[in-house]
Amino acid sequence: MRVMNHPYRVDLVLLGGGHSHGIFLKMWGMNPVDGVRVTLISESTDTPYSGMLPGFIGGIYSHEEAHIDLRQLTEYAGVRYIHGHVEGLDIPARQIKLADRPPVRFDCLSFNLGSRPQMDDVEGAHEFGIGIKPVARFWEYWSHVQETVKRHGPHTLSVVGAGAAGVETAISMKRACPQLKIQLIQKSSEILPAHHPKVRKIMADKLLAAGVDVICDAAVKSLKKGNIILQSGPPLETDFTVFTTQAGAPQWLAESGLKLDERGFIAVRDTLQSASHPFIFAVGDVATMEDHPRPKSGVFAVRQGQPLFHHVSQYLKGQKPSQFYPQKRFLSLMYTGDGAVLSRGGLAFSHPVLARYKDHIDRKFMKKFQNLELREMRTQIGIVERSDEFEETIRCHGCAAKVGSRILHGALERLKKEPWKPKADFALHHDDAAILDIPSDTRLLQTVDHLTAFVSDPYIFGRIAANHCLSDIYAMGGKPHSALANIIVPYADQRIMEEDIYQTLEGMMTSLESSKTALLGGHTSEGQHLSLSLTVNGLMPPSGALAKTSVKAGHKLILTKALGTGVLLAAAMRIKARGVWIDHGISSMIMDNGAAAACFVKHRASACTDVTGFGLIGHLQEMLISENLGAKLFRDAIPVLAGALEVSERGIVSSLFAQNRAFLDSLSYRDQDPKAKILVDPQTSGGLLAAIPAETADQCLVDLRAAGYLDASIIGQLEPLGTAQPMELI
Ligand SMILES: Cc1cc2nc3c(=O)[nH]c(=O)nc-3n(C[C@H](O)[C@H](O)[C@H](O)COP(=O)(O)OP(=O)(O)OC[C@H]3O[C@@H](n4cnc5c(N)ncnc54)[C@H](O)[C@@H]3O)c2cc1C
Repeated sequence: MRVMNHPYRVDLVLLGGGHSHGIFLKMWGMNPVDGVRVTLISESTDTPYSGMLPGFIGGIYSHEEAHIDLRQLTEYAGVRYIHGHVEGLDIPARQIKLADRPPVRFDCLSFNLGSRPQMDDVEGAHEFGIGIKPVARFWEYWSHVQETVKRHGPHTLSVVGAGAAGVETAISMKRACPQLKIQLIQKSSEILPAHHPKVRKIMADKLLAAGVDVICDAAVKSLKKGNIILQSGPPLETDFTVFTTQAGAPQWLAESGLKLDERGFIAVRDTLQSASHPFIFAVGDVATMEDHPRPKSGVFAVRQGQPLFHHVSQYLKGQKPSQFYPQKRFLSLMYTGDGAVLSRGGLAFSHPVLARYKDHIDRKFMKKFQNLELREMRTQIGIVERSDEFEETIRCHGCAAKVGSRILHGALERLKKEPWKPKADFALHHDDAAILDIPSDTRLLQTVDHLTAFVSDPYIFGRIAANHCLSDIYAMGGKPHSALANIIVPYADQRIMEEDIYQTLEGMMTSLESSKTALLGGHTSEGQHLSLSLTVNGLMPPSGALAKTSVKAGHKLILTKALGTGVLLAAAMRIKARGVWIDHGISSMIMDNGAAAACFVKHRASACTDVTGFGLIGHLQEMLISENLGAKLFRDAIPVLAGALEVSERGIVSSLFAQNRAFLDSLSYRDQDPKAKILVDPQTSGGLLAAIPAETADQCLVDLRAAGYLDASIIGQLEPLGTAQPMELI
């Protein structure tokens, strides 16, 4: 992520990657406010555009056409991205609670979390059905439905709720899967109760023509396996059930202390500020404008994007936010499968050409978020209040670059995790330096590594960086024992520096804890970029465990993780990687190599190393050189992360590639084979590469996959050295 010219003084956090935040980010990228650090938190990296949702379900639009890539958008806007699920808010502490990770601090907040269909009052709804939102979860369900119909023939799917979303969903599903029997269930006597009778009539005809059964006056009471139980009348048979019922607000808002409307949505004033907390803004479905309530719809969320940007910027510059008055009437275009229905007030008509018009509008909207390019950042001057401790002085180096004790203690106090304590026979004494008592029958391993932040989320960076540093110990078959950490944190307001240290430490401690590694101490200083280095101590029996260079001919080569992190991260920085590719890459980097090393020891590996900066070929060459052996590599068995080949073929390489390329001289491969480049791609927190006796290699692979290394693969075989290059890609 690019950083601003001046140190950050204020943390603005955006919750949810909804429509308004999409527009906000686009505008922020062109005109950010100086000194404000923005972080977007979203549970889905690809966020759906509501206008294209029916067409997406109906198979007209691809996933990419109908979704905004939030990793790319945040990279464009110079904004941090946290892929996480928000589950609460502590306003007095100014913290956002997230699932499975530490809370995030904020100075100013903006909500655009959308809504979910209300289904809590229907017993069994979550067990036997699914809501249309979150869309990613619905999509998995919908894919399963289509697969089931394809394999086993006709089934019945019920759509509960015949508002605009329900009607469009039912028609789209029928279009995508004609064999599916679809019933649209509505509790009132007519579909589309909030729409003009003319629209109702047109859509009723369209549903009939599409072959969707409409069942009105049917209030759903509960769901059982295979049945929908109604408040009155006989049960309805169903195989699958999708809820498109009235929008509901996140339940945790009720405990947040925010002023809410009677349905639990955040009450906001015309400035889009919370009616109770002016440093909190809210837009889209999750908000209700107290004086101008409107239906929950994507149209309003889109319209609020631009004013949100202006109002928040005004607030951050210490100005009074302007006021926004939403339109009373708006034009809506409803998807009908064979066209669209236009509705505005009492005007309603349907025509196939309207579908082309709708398509044009929707594509134009999405174009704003596609093919983003990095651009020079111009900043808006001014910032809300300056904190007392903030001094814009020339920063000292040497010992004075050390982070102040107040900041460090603030971060350490927030750390929930106690450092992992090793067994009592390894006494640790805390003094000016750590003293380790190592038993005489044990050998000490030591390694050091340093990484500069390559993702904008410091918690994830801390987790991955610690794994990377631990990896050398695992590669030798040792057990990590203890570590010393050095964190460099960019200069900013003291609360922001404390937050960065806290998040990085939480991430690092999560990895150290799971590897049972004690943190002995460390050092924290100011610098230009966030970075972390760890000196790790490991222990191993005197006889040793895994060496790098004792490879044997005939042994199979097993790689535990897919390659491609280097090129993917390089592409992400240039906004050329899809966000979900980076999500997958992060999941891979977050896995430590502990269980893999144990597996290799169990299966009597003759040699092992971790694949990091020199790429697969560079590290394999180190293994082969002393034993004078060669290797045949099975091209198609070498696992590669999604997207890595694609960006590599577009000419993107990591900055270390130029040096690593020389390793390819030792490899014989088909000219222009795109896979060759990936073999010298530098890996962050890469997998282990081991040589395993041929007779146990298959079982070793089974055990590795059972331990969670799903990309693990037998990628080659060691052979006596031929006359040509020592390695061959076959
Ligand atoms: C099938 C269907 C068709 C529709 N068609 C239209 C249409 O044509 N026109 C129209 O105006 N409206 C339409 N709507 C309604 C529209 O989808 C919503 O009103 C609109 O999406 C609301 O936009 P938003 O920006 O408030 O939130 P959303 O678009 O819902 O975005 C919310 C974002 O927050 C994230 N998020 C949610 N909860 C959390 C959490 N706890 N933690 C972290 N992140 C979270 C989500 O992943 C998402 O990125 C349709 C709805 C459906 C279901």
